[in-house]
Amino acid sequence: MGFDESVLICDQVDPVLNKVLSENGLKVTYEPEITPERLAEEIGSYNIVVVRSRTKLTKEIIEKANKCKIIARVGVGLDNIDQDAAKAKDIRVINAVEGAMNAVGELVVGLMFALARQIPRGDRGIRNGRWLKKEVKGTELKGKFLGIIGLGNIGKRLGRLARGLNMNIIGYDVIPIDQEFSKEVGLMKSDLDTLLKSSDYISIHVPLLDSTHHMINAEKLSLMKKTACVINTSRGGVVDEEALYDALKKGNLGGAALDVFEKEPAIGNKLAELENVILTPHIGAQTKEAQSLAANVIAEKIIQILRGII
Ligand code: NAD
Repeated sequence: MGFDESVLICDQVDPVLNKVLSENGLKVTYEPEITPERLAEEIGSYNIVVVRSRTKLTKEIIEKANKCKIIARVGVGLDNIDQDAAKAKDIRVINAVEGAMNAVGELVVGLMFALARQIPRGDRGIRNGRWLKKEVKGTELKGKFLGIIGLGNIGKRLGRLARGLNMNIIGYDVIPIDQEFSKEVGLMKSDLDTLLKSSDYISIHVPLLDSTHHMINAEKLSLMKKTACVINTSRGGVVDEEALYDALKKGNLGGAALDVFEKEPAIGNKLAELENVILTPHIGAQTKEAQSLAANVIAEKIIQILRGII
């Protein structure tokens, strides 16, 4: 059975989503660069709206979505969608948690290696005519303590990858951590402050909520070892960037790697002044595999909802 709902895809999404939905009879409009103004004008004509992270579905925009039944986020975090506004209009909000797990986990491993071996610094040196062999003396990840804050899908995947590198894993979550997983990676469960005091690398994997906004602030940074490195691939607002800058500048922290920022695109971010900081442009889920998996998951979910299965 085909469907005749209209779908607006607002951000750049793997073509498989358009293909599967069109094959099922849905009328798909692909507008990956749509502006907020045009979206506000057009959203009222669509039954399904698909976004990644560029498009912000604010209360004002959602209030105009008079025919909309489903808002789909091809990714994990729902912080760019006003979920209360969607609920008030009886719009279902769906996401695809599966896509990003491995991609973000692997990015964190890459960032840990890049910090430990100062790979960007060595590369920058050569490009600027300097052979920094003596200066770039690294450390190894083997045997180091990795503190994972938030042991959901991504935190767990990272735990498994890091175990393979013979790191020791410390974990903190607000909900009970899966026993099987803890056994598998030899996880040491901890409260947040103990994790911060004991870890060589601290990787954050919590959603952005009121309760997690600036959860890593000046006070929490002051608990960390002077050699510790903070890695944030969750959401920008979780780390107080001003406090992080101060801690790094004063030498109270070993380094940091950020994939997400309080303001994106993070062009002109002052953290870029610091040598021991690695910045990436929100590429956690930006792999071929993750995008294709997330698009397939969303296509499947939309069709199942229209069929009344889920
Ligand atoms: P998830 O929901 O599976 O896991 C989140 C975990 O955080 C849960 O176990 C939850 O209990 C825990 N948590 C919530 N509040 C907490 C708190 N105050 N202290 C400790 N733990 C807390 O989510 P996930 O799929 O693992 O995603 C984690 C984060 O990664 C989200 O912020 C998501 O937006 C982000 N993300 C980023 C990218 C990227 O491109 N960089 C890609 C995908 C996801």
